[in-house]
Amino acid sequence: ERSDGGEEKVSGAEVIAQALKTQDVEYVFGIVGIPVTEIAVAAQKLGIRYVGMRNEQAACYAASAVGYLTGRPGVCLVVSGPGLIHALGGMANANVNCWPLIVIGGSSERRQETMGAFQEFPQVEACRLYCKFSARPSSIETIPSIIEKAVRSSIYGRPGPCYVDIPADFVNFQVNVNSIKYVECCLPPPVSMAETSAVYMAASVLRNAKRPLLIIGKGAAYSRAEEAIRKLVGQCKLPFLPTPMGKGVVPDNHPNCVSAARSRALQFADVIVLFGARLNWILHFGLPPRYQPDVKFIQIDICAEELGNNVKPAVSLLGDINAVTKQLLEQFDKTPWQYPPESSWWQTLREKMESNEAASKELASQKSLPMNYYTVFYQVQEQLPRDCFVVSEGANTMDIGRTVIQNYLPRHRLDAGTFGTMGVGLGFAIAAAIVARDRNPGKRVICVEGDSAFGFSGMEVETICRAPPVCLLPNSHYEQVMTAFGGKGYFVQTPEELQKSLRESLADTTKPSLINIMIEPQATRKAQEEQKMTKSPYKEFL
Ligand code: ADP
Repeated sequence: ERSDGGEEKVSGAEVIAQALKTQDVEYVFGIVGIPVTEIAVAAQKLGIRYVGMRNEQAACYAASAVGYLTGRPGVCLVVSGPGLIHALGGMANANVNCWPLIVIGGSSERRQETMGAFQEFPQVEACRLYCKFSARPSSIETIPSIIEKAVRSSIYGRPGPCYVDIPADFVNFQVNVNSIKYVECCLPPPVSMAETSAVYMAASVLRNAKRPLLIIGKGAAYSRAEEAIRKLVGQCKLPFLPTPMGKGVVPDNHPNCVSAARSRALQFADVIVLFGARLNWILHFGLPPRYQPDVKFIQIDICAEELGNNVKPAVSLLGDINAVTKQLLEQFDKTPWQYPPESSWWQTLREKMESNEAASKELASQKSLPMNYYTVFYQVQEQLPRDCFVVSEGANTMDIGRTVIQNYLPRHRLDAGTFGTMGVGLGFAIAAAIVARDRNPGKRVICVEGDSAFGFSGMEVETICRAPPVCLLPNSHYEQVMTAFGGKGYFVQTPEELQKSLRESLADTTKPSLINIMIEPQATRKAQEEQKMTKSPYKEFL
């Protein structure tokens, strides 16, 4: 209680921020304005990092990458209506990739609902299709439990996005501090293990394989199974193939990595163990002609509904990949077994790897200009630090780049992913840079992008250049964006310069112009007659 006898109050915004902090949320990305600005401010006061971005879609990609990289969801904070709608792309991308994410959207005031309120939209319903959980707290008092449920749902079972809707009237409403009960931080996801009999059977199918192959997917990366899987590969001497984002769980330069003979490995393997990789388009659905018709799949996944999709597995191991891999290792510890290194399968794979590698080296050595992809990527690969994050998108840029650029560490590659989404790169890079800055200072983030892919969220370069990351750079030379593409750019500070630039721009009918005008940062509107009208409902930046 306060000394003046009244009870201490907190705002809805402060309750949201404290609830996020209590659930160990560390990062918020977004674009704020009415009605969510206060939430970002309250979060910052509690030491949560807030990064203001240029488009909600990119902010949502960034928040989802934090979830994949850290195993705890990042938050994407957006305004009502269009703000939330822009974030749907990021939510869908996280959902398809099975990444945890919390989206918090401001929404119109409850008393104006159905009246055509500012940016009114059925947000809870709109998000449901892309989410594991989508809800609006019924009161400020229920915010902590709804946020706990959202965070928990996002990481338990198959990870995915959750949405929490915050009506504008909650944000500044003051409630008594003692009426709010914060729900303790949810426990880490419970670890599930596969049935013992299924583990035994899987080990036995593997022992009898003539042409075995391990496929390592991003589920293995997410579950932090690198140590166990590296041990299994080394101990049993098995060939392995990473999926694009499974790269680095076992280093790409490991002698058992058969990426360079991908098609052949898939086509002729007789037993394939799937470590968190779905039999979707990325793996050609597990069907002929890309696979043997009678190939035996041993499928490891945390999601029961995934088991048996497209192909009936020989063995299903339902559980956490890290735990299940350890169960498999126990079998091979009890009765040691190694796949013979001199088998004809290894010979076939090695031959193919050598010829494929020779072909790309030959292309890389070509001296013609402009350079071909291989020449570029071999040069890039030579200079990249081994522990860097590689973010990649584009068509050839991503596909060819992936074959040349090596990953040595798990969760260090982020790309267009299962949804094949272009425009993710800069948001992912911002997330990786911020996580790296907090956990591994000095680690570099490298974006390898096609020009088209870059264009989707290109303006996020401004976010990238900013420090601290909360406010827009006041002296950005936006006019140079126009000159970069052949238009005319003007940087204007005085009325004379403004007049001149306008005259020239209007007179030139051949080229577009961009006039970048510096405004006094404290300037606002002229005084309004009615006090309550002075605040523009449009987006403002922190
Ligand atoms: P990739 O794109 O690398 O082929 P996918 O995204 O298709 O990988 O597959 C990842 C799979 O991993 C999903 O089916 C997901 O349910 C699963 N998964 C995620 N986390 C875990 C975990 N901790 N244990 C087991 N499976 C997991």
